[in-house]
Amino acid sequence: MQLKNKCLGIHELNNTVIDLINNSYDENILLTFDDGLYSQFKYKDRIKNKNRIYFICPNLINTKEINDEDVTCYVAMSKHFYDNSNEYYMKLEHVQTLINEGYTIGAHSFYHENIKYCSKIKVNNKLINNSRSYLSIKNENYIREDTELMLNWFDKYLNIRPLYYCFPFNNSTNKLKDTLKTYDFTEFFDDSNRIMI
Ligand SMILES: [Zn+2]
Repeated sequence: MQLKNKCLGIHELNNTVIDLINNSYDENILLTFDDGLYSQFKYKDRIKNKNRIYFICPNLINTKEINDEDVTCYVAMSKHFYDNSNEYYMKLEHVQTLINEGYTIGAHSFYHENIKYCSKIKVNNKLINNSRSYLSIKNENYIREDTELMLNWFDKYLNIRPLYYCFPFNNSTNKLKDTLKTYDFTEFFDDSNRIMI
């Protein structure tokens, strides 16, 4: 896995996106995949470029049946937030397969929360009302709690410690990066260093 100044930020895969990646970009550009959408696993071998990071969010891991219909990231995330269903996301075994195949796994927060998309948030496994001051991922207490949950999950289920952090919704600040550096993250990804496709 080679880091580049510029890289691609990818959500759902489908024929159009696969053709774009295979034909329109340098074959060594870094590919970053967000959210662990199942289409990223289903079509992984149709992309020539192996220089990839998969940014995984534990709260989006699918523990039930896969729905392998091709949908947009927005549809998949709406299902998650409004119907409490992760049917369009990878299961743990898919992430393990990516690791076994030599791909890098990065961190993408635990809850993937954003005030734009949800009205309640889980804290200590309780749903509380969303309020901007508390809920925003920009809040230091929130990011610490979220990050510790996430790192424990990666350790427990995959026995890995991610070094790369991609901000949910590309919602980053320098203060947040400073906080995350205390957890040994070395590289950060948002829309300032990625071409989002
Ligand atoms: Zn995301």
